[in-house]
Amino acid sequence: MFHSRICLILALLAALLTSVPYRTVAQADRLEPRPPADPQITAALADVSAQRIQASIEKLVSFQTRLTLSAQDPDSIKAGHGIGAAREWIKAEFERYSHDCGGCLEVKTDSFTENPGDRIPKPTLITNVYAVLRGTDPESPKRIVLVTGHYDSRNSDTFDASGIAPGANDDGSGTAVSLECARVLSKLKFPATIIFLTVAGEEQGLNGSAHFAKMAKDQGWDIEAALNNDIVGGDRSPRQNSEIVRVFSEGVPLAATDTEVRRIRNLGGENDSASRQLARYIAEVSRTYKTAARPLIVFRLDRYLRGGDHISFNEQGYSAVRFTEYREDYNHQHQNVRTENGIEYGDLPRFVNFDYVANVARVNAAALASLASAPAPPAKVRLQTKQLENDSTLTWEASPRGASYEVLWRDTASPEWEHAQPVGNVTHATLPLSKDNVIFAVRAVDGAGHRSLPVVPQPER
Ligand SMILES: [Zn+2]
Repeated sequence: MFHSRICLILALLAALLTSVPYRTVAQADRLEPRPPADPQITAALADVSAQRIQASIEKLVSFQTRLTLSAQDPDSIKAGHGIGAAREWIKAEFERYSHDCGGCLEVKTDSFTENPGDRIPKPTLITNVYAVLRGTDPESPKRIVLVTGHYDSRNSDTFDASGIAPGANDDGSGTAVSLECARVLSKLKFPATIIFLTVAGEEQGLNGSAHFAKMAKDQGWDIEAALNNDIVGGDRSPRQNSEIVRVFSEGVPLAATDTEVRRIRNLGGENDSASRQLARYIAEVSRTYKTAARPLIVFRLDRYLRGGDHISFNEQGYSAVRFTEYREDYNHQHQNVRTENGIEYGDLPRFVNFDYVANVARVNAAALASLASAPAPPAKVRLQTKQLENDSTLTWEASPRGASYEVLWRDTASPEWEHAQPVGNVTHATLPLSKDNVIFAVRAVDGAGHRSLPVVPQPER
């Protein structure tokens, strides 16, 4: 009954407005007001501590080097030197947070021996450390959102297993973000599962994240979003912009099949990978929570000549983005600590802006908490294309916790969603807009106003 009423209203709207450009319709439906802030999430963001992040980064630096090829024997771990000591400290830190929340985190390791390769001279044990905050909803715990940083470091020489490699920014900062998100979010409960991950092997060739993402794929994990933080230290160079954090995302998905690539070409889907929906979601969440660090969405897989752990997740077909500070100082990355011609080289804590890292952690925590609170995205979203017509009809499958749905759209040339039309608790909607002129998506909304990731429809003939 309700369904047909909604359809009728939309049809009436369509009849009224067919001769009017859609932007007029849109005046009332503008993405304003923004999705509401959840007071529980607002409180968690206030709990993020720059001092704790500083302490985490300084502790990571104290291990002298965290090169993946560095020491991990019991004596070195005891002496607090090398990647093994870093690994054990991260594990203990997650366990401490878990203790504080009555054992709410499952602290785990993913260890494997990597075979020799370009940057790995001999078989090497690599260990990812992670903590799982299991979802509380019987329908949702299989849904996973994940945050990651790499805890390995390097200096000028990727094979220097004993030289100093502080890695304060790259990627002590990202590791600290993952830890701090675990600390503040483990005090809350969410319907979906959150994983706080720290990986090794990044500097040797993304080995740790590649293993983890493949394991997830092989075991059928439903990872909805992976947030990779790599170089989010806000290096204190004079031209830094500490109000901005870049968010990189893939365009045509690395895992797209030939058929999918053909569809993307035909229909203009180059800007609508699931990873780009995630990037847009992060930008929207940042506006909802008025975070001090604002995402600068970059429609690019990663920076020129560079890669990162989000790519490992993209390769397995998961949505993943990379957070990186606005302006990198290459004298403070992958460099032996030294002073030459008055220039200081090396990735030292004193170049890191801990307040900035905390602000980036808040953007991450807001996105993780929003996604983990939201219903699953609607499944099988389709755009009817059986006949030539100027209206657009969308259909989808109900999401288990979805109380209602919104149809989003934007100009094909616009970077972000421009309009949202609430359509109620239905599984289809007809809008008086030509599908040829806009890009549509549908998202699920729960009773408290948490929004799922939007899903761009596939055409149905
Ligand atoms: Zn890095």
